[in-house]
Amino acid sequence: MTSATRTYEVVTYGCQMNVHDSERLTGLLEEAGYVRAPEDEQADVVVFNTCAVRENADNKLYGNLGHLAPVKAKKPGMQIAVGGCMAQKDRDTIVKRAPWVDVVFGTHNIGSLPVLLERARVQEEAQVEILESLEVFPSTLPTRRESAYAAWVSVSVGCNNTCTFCIVPSLRGKEKDRRPGDILAEVRALVAEGVTEVTLLGQNVNSYGVEFGDRQAFSKLLRACGEIEGLERVRFTSPHPAEFTDDVIAAMAETPNVMHQLHMPLQSGSDRVLRAMRRSYRSSKFLGIIDRVREAMPDAAITTDIIVGFPGETEEDFQATLDVVRRSRFAGAFTFQYSPRPGTPAATMDDQVPPDVVKSRYERLAALANEVAWEENKALVGRRVELMVAEGEGRKDTATQRLSGRGPDNRLVHFTPDLSGVSTPLDQPESVGRPESVGRAESRPIRPGDMVTVEITYAAPHHLVADGPVVAVRRTRAGDAWEARQGASASTGASVGLGMPSVGVPAPLSTAPACG
Ligand code: SF4
Repeated sequence: MTSATRTYEVVTYGCQMNVHDSERLTGLLEEAGYVRAPEDEQADVVVFNTCAVRENADNKLYGNLGHLAPVKAKKPGMQIAVGGCMAQKDRDTIVKRAPWVDVVFGTHNIGSLPVLLERARVQEEAQVEILESLEVFPSTLPTRRESAYAAWVSVSVGCNNTCTFCIVPSLRGKEKDRRPGDILAEVRALVAEGVTEVTLLGQNVNSYGVEFGDRQAFSKLLRACGEIEGLERVRFTSPHPAEFTDDVIAAMAETPNVMHQLHMPLQSGSDRVLRAMRRSYRSSKFLGIIDRVREAMPDAAITTDIIVGFPGETEEDFQATLDVVRRSRFAGAFTFQYSPRPGTPAATMDDQVPPDVVKSRYERLAALANEVAWEENKALVGRRVELMVAEGEGRKDTATQRLSGRGPDNRLVHFTPDLSGVSTPLDQPESVGRPESVGRAESRPIRPGDMVTVEITYAAPHHLVADGPVVAVRRTRAGDAWEARQGASASTGASVGLGMPSVGVPAPLSTAPACG
């Protein structure tokens, strides 16, 4: 078989950076002539885009590699590649522990993957290539976007901070900022293709501009996104409380398409622990930012990441974290039990907290965070919300016959697609949602990327439900783009599979304590 007809599968672990890198890996492979493997077929090339932040990341990777060894033995020509943070960290160890791996590449040279695969095939030996710093800003690489309607756009890679629990700086390197003109050109190109939502992505978006000496570069970028016609929703992740400045709050409040949503990692509410984590803000600064965000945007939904059981954390420190959670009224908190990550300073700190204490604190924190999020959600019952319809976000949607979407504040809402109240032509925004006006009943299906207005009828801690009739529907260019893509993949037989739990939309919130 020639490389022109070889199939691939990319399996992704970890944070949004990795999800976006996988879109680039996919784009690179497709440009090199590979095609995505149908879901029920073993791919000729399997690429693992790994994460070193998650607990048991190595066990998971080596377990998966172990499963593939006999598969590969029976399939001549099959290749396995390992990239991402684990590859950057473990380098040669990977081919020593799993000699059937063909290619190991790092976080700084993802563009080399097709060449390394080809070289491994011709030379019949494993290729390990890890660079210490970035060769090309990855956004210049071809990208195969997972979603037709929402997209990640990198503003920077790497991080200049040195949080003691985090492996990112040593694996992703120092912060590299992209020029604003390049970022905006990418956003405009995406919008021209039908994308209506972008999430600006960086390990620490608030330090964006440090490389070219503009402290207000990020707020300027948000405002410039507000000028892009057709771009309906702008989000960003992750901000960092130490560098968060008020010009960003003003830009969020004053730019209509920047959503009133903030995912700002707290990590700990104890100043003593924050110091040990080498995070240079204190809880009062964090709470001050939240107060100013709420003052400027009373409808803002604020979510966070918190680590419990950091070395040396006492019950008093933990109580300080609970206190900040109570005062912050988080719409959601991603809570993590601290566990040492090899290669980080915190892994060798004295006074590691016993696992049973970490677990008990974790349970108490999760219970409080749920209670707070639930109360915040209950306050929304009865409100009308415009949702961007999402694909693959409602795991039970088939069983419940609902669809799912995200509100402006990024809350997940499962809704009944009952269009009986919408009787006007859906492609005329000025008349949409006026059931009293004359028109035929709408029978066209609602598509991912379309906008629907619903009334919230029920609140759970982590989602909302809208079971009444849909109030209004707006068919969008994003929905058209999604539909066109369905037609294209049906005709090529391509199937989607990044190995991620949800496909079709960027993961809306942080899933790993990687950053910020
Ligand atoms: S946690 Fe975030 S801010 Fe801290 S070092 Fe890691 S990437 Fe940088």
